[in-house]
Amino acid sequence: MKIMKFGGTSVGSASRMQAVARLVTDAGCNLVVLSAMSGTTNTLEEIVAYLYNRNADGAKDTISRLESKYQKTIQDLFTTEEARQQCGAHIQSVFDGLRALTRELFGPVQEKMVLAQGELLSTKMMELYLKEQGVNVLLLPALDFMKLDLQGEPDQDYIREHLLPLLSADADLFLTQGYICRNAHNEVDNLQRGGSDYTASLVGAAIGAEEIQIWTDIDGMHNNDPRVVKDTRAVRHLHFDEAAELAYFGAKILHPTCIQPAKYANIPVRLLNTLEPSAPGTIIDNRPDTGTIKAVAAKDNIAVIKIKSSRMLLAHGFLRKVFEIFESFRTSIDMICTSEVGVSMSIDDTRFLNEIVHHLKKYGTVTVDLDMCLICVVGDMDWENVGFESNVLAAMKEIPVRMVGYGGSNYNISFIVKEEDKKRALQALSNQLFA
Ligand code: ADP
Ligand code: ASP
Ligand code: MG
Repeated sequence: MKIMKFGGTSVGSASRMQAVARLVTDAGCNLVVLSAMSGTTNTLEEIVAYLYNRNADGAKDTISRLESKYQKTIQDLFTTEEARQQCGAHIQSVFDGLRALTRELFGPVQEKMVLAQGELLSTKMMELYLKEQGVNVLLLPALDFMKLDLQGEPDQDYIREHLLPLLSADADLFLTQGYICRNAHNEVDNLQRGGSDYTASLVGAAIGAEEIQIWTDIDGMHNNDPRVVKDTRAVRHLHFDEAAELAYFGAKILHPTCIQPAKYANIPVRLLNTLEPSAPGTIIDNRPDTGTIKAVAAKDNIAVIKIKSSRMLLAHGFLRKVFEIFESFRTSIDMICTSEVGVSMSIDDTRFLNEIVHHLKKYGTVTVDLDMCLICVVGDMDWENVGFESNVLAAMKEIPVRMVGYGGSNYNISFIVKEEDKKRALQALSNQLFA
């Protein structure tokens, strides 16, 4: 059995949903994971903001606009009037439920219920459409088996124990929601934005799937960000660690959390294009490649913090004190460079930047560079190979580079540049490495 996950763009309209239905019907008995229709979760977040602000009119307006989008979609989706009416009544009851929230006290529990509706709707529509097409599909509610533990981490044992028995039912294919789950207190919760990829990976690992497929609107992982750089190409094979670096550092096609469960269960992840199902896409697995630079990714909104201290000279325990400050503010460091008298670190979560800087000032002179961009080049960076680093560095000859990170893993070399130089840097890397 394979896991086939379809993202928001793949189910973003009636015709896209019909294409997905044909695709999954032809593929055999698999477990299909769906995201919400594209734009829905953003709109649900808007509704949540109105409800927290007790702006009932704003909430109702937004709810009604979203509802009419769904009612319109199902007119085109179904063939029979009976199916349209059945699905229309369901949609109306969901949106009536949302409107009722404008009259109640609103808190985190209600918020999670609102955010869950996108995936609940898309899977219900797909279930009814497949049934209309004569497919014996079984909709498995993710809230029955996707579970977080007390630390907020997925409970893999629970997922396995509760999902496996459901899959022995007699069906042509199984369908479930991405993103949504229950927490340790049994309340509705979610796996954070973009979390449907994580669902696919977790259920794939739990049932020992043959393959985890992530279907989206582009032909696999590209060698550079297609939103920024011209003439990017799909990369056909990546090691899990390479894919993890790319996903973490900005290649939005794959959510970074998706890598780890698949990697440890040794289940290949295949990125495929809904618009061109026969294209080969990208396969991600544990096989290493040697001798190539694969791809470049970039992450914005990076802050670089430098601490200079003469006390660091010949001292031990200095870095521990510095790191403890970041730890106490639950802020992780992405990149770090040290010299005998100073250390520079980059972070992308700047919520506690002021507090961190305040505490660091106990140990030295602190400076901060904001609006920076972390660029990550992924490929065979084994230190015994020669020429790769100098080739990558040569691309940056015209661009001011704030930090360079090399040797942290066998897979990457990273730079920090100004955000305003990002496009230029990505294009220069593409010209140098992939022309
Ligand atoms: P979905 O809704 O299917 O989850 P996403 O919008 O989350 O899809 O991700 C797909 C998008 O990621 C693509 O349309 C593409 O613009 C973007 N993207 C960013 N970097 C890359 C990359 N390196 N390779 C492929 N796509 C990328
Ligand atoms: N619908 C959720 C989101 O937009 C989850 C996902 O699409 O992966 O974040
Ligand atoms: Mg996505």
